[in-house]
Amino acid sequence: MALKALLGLSQAQLETWAKDQGLPPFRGRQLHDWLYAKGARHWHDITVLPAALRQQEPLPLGRSNELERHLAQDGTLKLLLATDDGLSLETVGIPTRDRLTVCVSSQVGCPMACRFCATGKEGLQRSLEPHEIVDQVLTVREVMQRRPSHVVFMGMGEPLLNSDHVLTAIDCLSRDLGMAMRQITVSTVGVPNTLPRLAELALERLGRAQFTLAVSLHAPDQALREELIPTARAYPYEQLLEDCRHYVAISGRRVSFEYILLGNLNDSPRQAQALAEQVRGFQSHVNLIPYNPIAEEEFQRPEPARVDAFAAALKQRGVAVSVRASRGLDQNAACGQLRRQRKGGR
Ligand code: SAH
Repeated sequence: MALKALLGLSQAQLETWAKDQGLPPFRGRQLHDWLYAKGARHWHDITVLPAALRQQEPLPLGRSNELERHLAQDGTLKLLLATDDGLSLETVGIPTRDRLTVCVSSQVGCPMACRFCATGKEGLQRSLEPHEIVDQVLTVREVMQRRPSHVVFMGMGEPLLNSDHVLTAIDCLSRDLGMAMRQITVSTVGVPNTLPRLAELALERLGRAQFTLAVSLHAPDQALREELIPTARAYPYEQLLEDCRHYVAISGRRVSFEYILLGNLNDSPRQAQALAEQVRGFQSHVNLIPYNPIAEEEFQRPEPARVDAFAAALKQRGVAVSVRASRGLDQNAACGQLRRQRKGGR
């Protein structure tokens, strides 16, 4: 397969590339330093290279162009970035005192069509290349002038439909940007026949599967899950949980679960009890996400008291639980909204 960009390559791969260009290997080491440590955007930025090479630009570095930048009151940064072929994607930087989490997209659009999700309303354009994923982290670092500590694949797209490129990007983030793999989370709504395979691929390719897998459950039973997530029809609840167990066995890591809370739909104490039974045995963590309203749907944001009661009911049954704080609500926090707005909300 033809190489599309330099970003995403390791130092050894950059040295090989340099050699193939008839350059001494140390040019590869310089490129590595400028791409990752210095965050070069253009060939002409890399002043240590000979002028002829900088002008020649033998291959794209792999950086995106910024289309829009929104900074919310609480410091959350939302970026709309453009790919080389003119598509746009969203990336979010979420700062706290001791963390900077980058929420990256793995695809432009998404084919999963979950009913509550803005991205799902427009289908899939294409999967992202490894450099397009790594670029999002570098861009947030540059704009916020701070090193990201965590990366979550919770932006646009379904990462398990792009496992290969997602793993390459994770490899690069840990190897070349020095991020701890444990601080990287891959979130999936579940794609049949991909979960145990992801752990196997990670072991084969990276030698470890130390990133965290988060599975979006969103309902305590198959019937309601299918209503919210049409693709769940092809993936029975029990099979999904079985694949999670299999994933744990192969990777040696716990999985965590995500559960969107939709007012008066999946947020009752009885449903919390049913959920606790489903995840029992996983010694797992459930992350509750109060619904961020999107234009196309009538779902309700849950009452804060219902959120607390749901969390308490899980805790009571021994399930570790956290509630995701909604950050940047004034800037269209729900993923995919910024992009849809720009396109006229079609
Ligand atoms: N496709 C993957 C990752 C992207 S979405 C997945 O489904 O897990 C990341 C998380 O945000 C998922 O749990 C998703 O269900 C949730 N999400 C999507 N739209 C949302 C909305 N409007 N409000 C709250 N959470 C939402």
